[in-house]
Amino acid sequence: MSAAPAPISAPPASVLDTHIEQFPGVGERRAEPLRKAGVKTYRDLLRYYPRRYLDRTTVTPIRQIAEPGEYTVVGEVAAKGMIPGRGGRSRLELRVTDDSGGTLKCVWFRGANYLQRLYQKGETYAFHGKADKYGSSFSMAHPDTDRLDDATAALQTGRIVPLYPGGAALEKVGLNSRGFRRLIYRMIKEHGLAIPEVLPESVRAQHDLIDGNVALRAVHFPRDVAERGRAVRRLKFEEFFFLQLLLALTKGRQEKQAGVRLGGVGGYTQRFLDEVLPFELTGAQRRVLETIAADTASGHQMNRLVQGDVGSGKTVVGVAAMLMAVDAGHQAAFMAPTEILTEQHYANVRGFLEPLGLETRLLIGGQRKALRDEILAEIASGEAHAVVGTHAIIEDKVEFQNLGLAVVDEQHRFGVVQRAKMFKKGQRPHVLMMTATPIPRSLAMTVYGDLDVSAIDEMPAGRKPIETKVYSEKRREEMLDFVKRQLREGRQAYVVYPLVEESESETLADVKDAENGAAELSEALRPYRVELVHGRMLSYEKEEAMDRFKGGEADVLVATTVIEVGVDVPNATVMVIEHAERFGLAQLHQLRGRVGRGGDQSYCFLMASYKRSAESTERLEAMEATTDGFEISETDLRLRGAGDFFGTRQSGLPDLKIADVVKDAEILTEARAAAFAIAEATPALDAPGLEATREHFGRTAPKSLGFARVG
Ligand code: ADP
Ligand code: MG
Repeated sequence: MSAAPAPISAPPASVLDTHIEQFPGVGERRAEPLRKAGVKTYRDLLRYYPRRYLDRTTVTPIRQIAEPGEYTVVGEVAAKGMIPGRGGRSRLELRVTDDSGGTLKCVWFRGANYLQRLYQKGETYAFHGKADKYGSSFSMAHPDTDRLDDATAALQTGRIVPLYPGGAALEKVGLNSRGFRRLIYRMIKEHGLAIPEVLPESVRAQHDLIDGNVALRAVHFPRDVAERGRAVRRLKFEEFFFLQLLLALTKGRQEKQAGVRLGGVGGYTQRFLDEVLPFELTGAQRRVLETIAADTASGHQMNRLVQGDVGSGKTVVGVAAMLMAVDAGHQAAFMAPTEILTEQHYANVRGFLEPLGLETRLLIGGQRKALRDEILAEIASGEAHAVVGTHAIIEDKVEFQNLGLAVVDEQHRFGVVQRAKMFKKGQRPHVLMMTATPIPRSLAMTVYGDLDVSAIDEMPAGRKPIETKVYSEKRREEMLDFVKRQLREGRQAYVVYPLVEESESETLADVKDAENGAAELSEALRPYRVELVHGRMLSYEKEEAMDRFKGGEADVLVATTVIEVGVDVPNATVMVIEHAERFGLAQLHQLRGRVGRGGDQSYCFLMASYKRSAESTERLEAMEATTDGFEISETDLRLRGAGDFFGTRQSGLPDLKIADVVKDAEILTEARAAAFAIAEATPALDAPGLEATREHFGRTAPKSLGFARVG
């Protein structure tokens, strides 16, 4: 047997790739909504996975439901009604009865108009969901349902029934869950299941994964819970495996880019750390710097992302990395997303480099031409050792003499194109990206799977964690007394109001809210001075108000959410967030980050109404429990779901159909290790036994990533 690469050829035309409309019983009428749902071929249909299952192996007679919990019941719709609600929205209510003589109410608040047509009085359905007690009877909100074939269906227990994602267009052509079950059943019966095994044998053995075809059959028609579990695990693994293989091969390609060889910590860097910095690096900062030193000495281009919470000290790490380039005789750049931030960084970097006798230049839009020309000349001649700028830095006109390393701050605010441009600038500098938006590890493995990621997971010493308390209206006096005590000690406080409606900009109602708040506080906190800022003020008015707070003329700053990044008043030790239940977790975390910047103990009061969703309560509890941005974003991701959390949608990566980066993090980790091992051993996927893996990869990799079809 030779180990020659598999020949590159088109996959054999097979029944798997036959278009769905060509199968009897499908036809154009059904094919259209199917295509819209992503099902073009038989292969796609097999991978149209159930959204959920209705476990009919344990059906509970309604009368036996004695306490709240999850149940499956099978019963007849005895009555159906639309109950008008507030805002013109009606809810759908079904009264369901069964042979046990019990009655259960099923309620839908969303989609009631559409759903009411799906349920007929006198018909029998299975309902699965959480039953809660209201008064003397139980009801289920938004249960999963399945229409049973006939009235004797109550007897058909003992099966796990797949429920498929649907929608009006599919329902219209008979493709409700029952329709899908019938279609898939018939297709498998007539055309069989003979998909070549796409996971390498070794991977299957090592991770105890069942055969692909067995899994596909079982995901649609599981015999029991255990079999379904094995099938789902295998298919999730497969999805993650191919996603990670894509990332591993992309990364492998990048690592092959030659990069200038730096020599780690040299004279300038050492002096910066020893003489210029007024503090010791944290352990986390040191670890990240060591990694950067190793990356940049490897001869390959660095492509590293550093994640670190607000205030963890990323800038210093960036500057030290820049100095490693300068030590090796190269120039360094620092790119930031806004002019305000860029000027702030420029002042910092220049302050660090000047004592070392090094030259720093600022490059932003709107500089006078004469000045700009002078700066460009200094960059081109090498006279400027470091350049701090906005994306003006990556313009073609900006020619460095020998750029060795570039820091990209707040990288998520730059587009992919801008980042790619930095990679290709000059002789391809090492690139160090930094982000203050912590991304949970599981998501980072997907979105940034092609980058090296380091975390600064430790705060500088001496910072005291902010004490956070959730208070209801009843304890307002207590909160005000506390604030007063802090003010008496010379500290300052923020009070923040959320936007009333979820919208891009402030409305008059929002301003009113804050204005009323400010008026009440002036009264309650007399004689302390209260200042107000909101988004509808003119910018000079805002600036003046901010200056009065910064300068200590005002003790309390009442604000709408306009106080975002950039406010830095170390003397402020109290943050009061009104209507905290309305804020998202990330925003709460950012707002709270405005205090706790000096050495004094700081406090955060989350004023929240009792009338709030379970999810709001979880958010508020997370805020009380931790000040760690990573933990907070883990919770945020869990509460919101991966699709909603930023990043995944825009990442250009293939959609996950069955796997979930949060819930299936363990499988993700396993699949990632397996994929990276294969990619390292066989980057061309051309070893014997990998033929089907290679074919599947070639067929599914997004074309935009430039992997030629290899199948
Ligand atoms: P971020 O990670 O949010 O960009 P910065 O780099 O702006 O954080 O650092 C926040 C503050 O902490 C700065 O004032 C910086 O000088 C200070 N700092 C950074 N590292 C340390 C350290 N190891 N010890 C003490 N203070 C530090
Ligand atoms: Mg920063």
